[in-house]
This record gives sequence, structure tokens and C-alpha cells, in this order.
Amino acid sequence: MKRLYPGGKAKVFTVSYDDGVLQDVRFVELLNKYGIRGTFNLNSQLMRDEFAWTHESGMVVKRLSPSAARRLYDGHEVASHTLTHPYLDHAGRSAILREMGEDRDDLEQLFGREVRGFAAPFSFWSQEMAECARLCGFEYARISEESRSFTPPADRFNWRAGIFHLSPDLESFVDEFLMTDRELAICQIVGHSYDLDAANMWGRMEAILRRVAACSDVAFMTTLEIVRYLTENAIL
Ligand SMILES: [Zn+2]
Repeated sequence: MKRLYPGGKAKVFTVSYDDGVLQDVRFVELLNKYGIRGTFNLNSQLMRDEFAWTHESGMVVKRLSPSAARRLYDGHEVASHTLTHPYLDHAGRSAILREMGEDRDDLEQLFGREVRGFAAPFSFWSQEMAECARLCGFEYARISEESRSFTPPADRFNWRAGIFHLSPDLESFVDEFLMTDRELAICQIVGHSYDLDAANMWGRMEAILRRVAACSDVAFMTTLEIVRYLTENAIL
């Protein structure tokens, strides 16, 4: 018999968005409107600094302050994305542990809840980083590389993103997901909400969310909830 997600749903849809920027306010509103649950990967030091940078489009991308973010993500997962968003390629173990551990502690304090997910900054992954994530008590580590697959990942500490939202194949990937018969199919969209402004794609994103929300065989869970469900059921 085919295994199912909670509520007897055949498949699960989720989003995982990085950096905690101002456009998350509009994006979370959209998710809430359709009952879709997401994961938001935050850098606590950059929130405190209200870090800003200029995107190639000329738009200034701003981080949410701790006070602006405090209640925003209620009902969604808050996960670590390191303290300062560094390139970890040449970082030693102690620097990686500090970037992960301090960010997790800060976020737990700010949001008053446990933080057990991790998303790596840039497109970095190494065995060392995966080990550090485990040591810090994270239950999974998501990376930016796309799997373009609906299959649950074999290694939750090398969790490839489903699809990046700027992909021209975004709609066809979602179409395929809605039609697939694959057991325990997962569709995970990743990105940064400032891209929705820069690429003027709020309408496209809302159309996708509306379509998925209308499907009765799709569950809506955060990445951590999916990881826990699959782990508890001996799938991961
Ligand atoms: Zn990032």
C-alpha cells in the first residue's frame, strides 16, 4: 500500500526562502492566504545590523530587523542560515560551528521557539559542514543545488532544493508534481523573496500557490516537519 503524509495526503508542498528580507512580509501574507507553510532561513547578526545591499536591478535589498521579524513567521519554520552569511569554503570547523551555533541560539531567543533546520549560505556544501550541522543539533541541512526531483532525499544533511524559483521551468515543474504518482512526492521551491520584486513575478508565484492550494491530495508542511515525518516513518 502507498505510504501517505499526515491527513492521508499523497504528496507535500513547501517553500524554503533565505535571508529574511523586507519582501518576506508580502510573501508570508501570500502563503497565509493559501494555507501554505514555509521555512525561512535567517542570519541573526545581519538582522541586528539591518544589513542592506544593492541588487543588480538597482533595488536596495534590506534585511528585516529583529522587531519587524518577531511575529512575522508565526505558523512557519524559522531556520538558521548562519550568523553572518559567510563563504564557508575555507572556514575551519570552529568558525563553522560558531556561525551555526550562535545563529541558532540568537534565533531561538528572538522567536522563543526551537530552531532545528539549517540552510547553507551561497551554494556551499561539505562533509565537514554536514557534520557541524549534526553537532549543533540541526535535524537537516538544505543546500542551494537543485534536485529537480520529487523523491525524498537520501541524506537529510545534504538536502538539495527542489527547484529555484527563478527557473524558467518553475510552472512545468509544479505541473509535473501535481500529476506525479511517485510515493511521498515532495515539491520544494526555494529562493529569496526580493527576487519576486526584482523579477516582477508576484503574479506568477500567486498563481502557483493558488493552484497547489486547490489540490486535495497535497499536504502543507515546513521542511522540518517533512524531515521529522520521514524520519519517524523510517523513510529518511
Ligand atoms: Zn542566503
